[in-house]
Amino acid sequence: MSANEEYSFFGAVEKSFDRAAKFTNWDPGILEQIKACNAVYRMKFPVRMDDGRIEVIEAYRVQHSQHKTPCKGGIRFAAEVNQDEVMALAALMTYKCAIVNVPFGGGKGGIKINPRKYSVYELEKVTRRYTAELVKKNFIGPGTDVPAPDYGTGEREMAWIVDTYASLRPGEIDAAGCVTGKPVTQGGVRGRREATGMGIFFGIREVCQMPDVMEKLGLTVGVEGKRVIVQGLGNVGYHAAKFFHNAGAKIIALAEYEGAVYSEDGLDVDAVFEHRKKTGSILNFPGGSNFAKNTDALEYDCDILIPAALENVINGENAPRVKARIIGEGANGPLTPEADEVFVTKGTLVVPDMYLNAGGVTVSYFEWLKNLSHVRYGRMEKRFTENMNQHILGQIEELTNRQVSTRERQFIMHGPEEVDLVHSGLEETMITATREIMDAWKSNPQIPDMRTAAYVVAINKVGTSYAELGIFP
Ligand code: NAD
Repeated sequence: MSANEEYSFFGAVEKSFDRAAKFTNWDPGILEQIKACNAVYRMKFPVRMDDGRIEVIEAYRVQHSQHKTPCKGGIRFAAEVNQDEVMALAALMTYKCAIVNVPFGGGKGGIKINPRKYSVYELEKVTRRYTAELVKKNFIGPGTDVPAPDYGTGEREMAWIVDTYASLRPGEIDAAGCVTGKPVTQGGVRGRREATGMGIFFGIREVCQMPDVMEKLGLTVGVEGKRVIVQGLGNVGYHAAKFFHNAGAKIIALAEYEGAVYSEDGLDVDAVFEHRKKTGSILNFPGGSNFAKNTDALEYDCDILIPAALENVINGENAPRVKARIIGEGANGPLTPEADEVFVTKGTLVVPDMYLNAGGVTVSYFEWLKNLSHVRYGRMEKRFTENMNQHILGQIEELTNRQVSTRERQFIMHGPEEVDLVHSGLEETMITATREIMDAWKSNPQIPDMRTAAYVVAINKVGTSYAELGIFP
């Protein structure tokens, strides 16, 4: 890249795509269509601020692909939002959805504001006006384009969006499906909060179940006893660490921006979390020792490293010192392309973000299905299942002349709640996606890494959709 040439995030995504496309057999025209951003809506609108001033807000919504509809992707509020970034993130959503078999095209939205500089009332006005602009151009709707939270947005903003949409489209029976990540009281789904961390755990666990992969890495099969390090104790990192801990892995180090702690005996994730909440710092945790620098945690010897905080934390400079055998990308883009090259040479397995952190969009899909079906998961079958289980258990006890313990009885009898079904759907999704990517990788030894294999899987799925749709004259 020349000095005057600006870095393009979308260009970088296109490069990764081209690298993987070489391992597919699609017509160049189809590949060009898969890569292209189908629609970019750049808008400006005025909002009156609390002090009476009128501010003109810049915002975007990009629909990268309509090979499946609706399009799907978060809305971010950040001062750095620009068209190139929104296009890149929308493209990544297309590939992410394809990999985890979520039948959506990729989309993404952005509003160029720093949300910390606005009052709640101002943010509400900006969000509602943005939604109205999307409605005017048919860029939102349960069948066209379904946003979700991203940086700087959450359940509150999604509630404003659904409310604005529903009031502009009175009588639209599926209006709740116009956005996901809503509060449960506004049509959200239980189990979404922990979904990304849980998906990361399911993905890595599946890789650890593959004897040939573990043998190459010099590791034993299974998650139990594995030494795990997590960077970032936020939504993604905290839940991922908890699920590894619960499965019998040892969390030997945790890193936050103010520092990092370790203990070869294993850290109690909740105790560290509480300590940080109480003292304002992860450092000086009574059950562990401090690292000199927080980045030291990335280079400490371990089996599995989960960077779940920021982008570009492992690069060409520190990658040679990283000792982990498996790196699970919890954050978006924690490894640079230079780091990828180092790990291919070292034989470290990098499990790529594009699929590993897809738990959030997968559960968003379940939320959208719930909204379209207008019924809570489990409502129809919970009691029926419990009655059947009761009956079966009674028969077994009668035939064997033995009583099961109260604890076992509760477990066997239990009919599925919404959260059980959401977790089970997520587990199935991550296991299937892991196997598909690994199969693609194994089928062609020329594919250098799991990231490229994931792209190959995505390109093949989107390509098949286009081929099946037919190309209009
Ligand atoms: P979060 O804000 O809840 O957590 C991030 C954590 O990282 C915070 O606790 C923060 O203090 C910590 N952190 C910041 N700088 C750090 C540093 N230098 N070293 C160590 N820790 C540091 O955010 P999140 O929702 O957990 O998202 C984390 C990453 O995962 C982001 O890249 C995000 O795009 C990605 N992601 C999130 C989701 C989701 O569902 N939340 C889904 C897919 C991808």
